[in-house]
Amino acid sequence: MQQLSVKAIEEAGAPVRQADVVVIGAGACGLAAALAARDAGAGVLVIEQDDQARGTTAMTWGMLPGAGTRYQRALGIEDTPECFAADIMKKSDDQADPVVVAAVARGSGPAIEWLSDRHGLTFQLLDDVLYPGHSRHRYHVPLSRTGAELQQSLFDAARRAGADFLFGARITTLYRDADDSVKAVGCRLADGGEQTIACAAVVLATGGYGGNPEAIRAHIPAMADAAYCGHDGSRGDALAWGRDLNAALGDLGAYQGHCVVDESRLPLTWTLIIEGGIQVNHLGQRFSNEMSGYSEQAAAVLRQPGGTAFTVYDERSERLALRYADYRQVQESGAIRQADSIEALAQAMSVPQGALASVFAGIEQCAREDRPDAFGRRFRADQLLRPPYRAVRLRGALFHTQGGLCVDEHARVLRAADGAAFPNVYAGGGAARGISGPDASGYLGGNGLVTAVVLGRLAGGSAARAAGFAAQTEFTGGSDA
Ligand SMILES: Cc1cc2nc3c(=O)[nH]c(=O)nc-3n(C[C@H](O)[C@H](O)[C@H](O)COP(=O)(O)OP(=O)(O)OC[C@H]3O[C@@H](n4cnc5c(N)ncnc54)[C@H](O)[C@@H]3O)c2cc1C
Repeated sequence: MQQLSVKAIEEAGAPVRQADVVVIGAGACGLAAALAARDAGAGVLVIEQDDQARGTTAMTWGMLPGAGTRYQRALGIEDTPECFAADIMKKSDDQADPVVVAAVARGSGPAIEWLSDRHGLTFQLLDDVLYPGHSRHRYHVPLSRTGAELQQSLFDAARRAGADFLFGARITTLYRDADDSVKAVGCRLADGGEQTIACAAVVLATGGYGGNPEAIRAHIPAMADAAYCGHDGSRGDALAWGRDLNAALGDLGAYQGHCVVDESRLPLTWTLIIEGGIQVNHLGQRFSNEMSGYSEQAAAVLRQPGGTAFTVYDERSERLALRYADYRQVQESGAIRQADSIEALAQAMSVPQGALASVFAGIEQCAREDRPDAFGRRFRADQLLRPPYRAVRLRGALFHTQGGLCVDEHARVLRAADGAAFPNVYAGGGAARGISGPDASGYLGGNGLVTAVVLGRLAGGSAARAAGFAAQTEFTGGSDA
């Protein structure tokens, strides 16, 4: 493991090149930052440890929430930043930073229109399924509904905009002066060589620490034994530099959990649950309100006997899931059990028949009496499961972490001692403290990509300004710092 550190600028080797803005990491956050800095006219160098720009972003469903967009208006959906911010705060039980939440919600719609109108990305609004915690349809997705397309089109846009890229280079060292300004970065190249690159400002877009088992054991012990399904490069490098810089760190216990197919680790879309699906354990019993949110459900599944559970759904809800490439992969993998009756389903799942039958009966009764069940979930009559049934065995998984460097509404990294901003260090996405409060239950679907894109955009604009360029200000009230 290479040592990560922050050193005095005097210790840096002679720089081989220099850039106005150095962006570390080429996921959604880094690429949005690069686009914003290029829009302002700054020279941008994006440095990525992998040999291509993928990150966790390429593994997503590309579900990027935005409030008040023309895509929503075209479908008659009324939404505002205030409404989105209220949903985020409610999900986090009011424990997320309201200043950053307001900045992200305010910047979310404009960011989608900016990516579309100025940088040529294509979005469609998901208006079929309303995810838990969102009071409006506001997920904007690429046409293929994949993060791979979102990531590729962000990368293509950044290249078109004139950002430079250095691949296969892991940044290990930040070099700062006596005023805590980062003046250069040091990287280790794939061939073992080292380089120093001078900069006027730096954006930390290195993702979270889900790929660092030690950090997960320390900050999120409940997920220490969970399958990790994010990018291996999320090793928490920004955290290590943050500690060295004496930066403020926040909400390190926050994360996005999800459920993945036990055998293949393929994610199973939550659409199935939203459309009336349920989860039962190996005793044939339900154990939670699945509609609270998929993130917290991962730990609930891990607490079940054997650490696994089944998602049970039907052919009707499967039709919606089939729009997602990864559901079709789950289908092809042979993980889906099918049955025409509850008895046959129990047999296919190897769970007690009586227990499963009473789960179905209980749900029917609650729906008929229009009351919530023992876990607080309400079932609509038109969503009650009907044969033919489906079931998939799942395991709780960790997708990405949401804690990190505390930033303000300009994506400036803040000092631990007095909360003041560092002069030229910015962060977003998985590297920064997110908007989900202190644990998994505060994760509102989309909090990952929206903080990557919006904080990335803010970070890029702020970094360009620190480098002496006049960045655009129309996308957020918080951009004139
Ligand atoms: C299966 C899955 C599905 C998901 N679906 C969604 C979704 O639909 N919507 C949503 O909002 N969120 C989703 N998420 C969460 C989302 O992936 C993240 O929140 C988001 O991608 C974070 O973006 P990022 O740019 O911060 O990090 P990343 O995309 O991970 O990019 C960070 C980059 O930094 C590089 N890097 C790290 N350290 C260094 C270093 N020292 N030097 C050089 N390079 C470095 C890494 O290699 C990586 O390429 C999902 C996550 C998973 C795992």
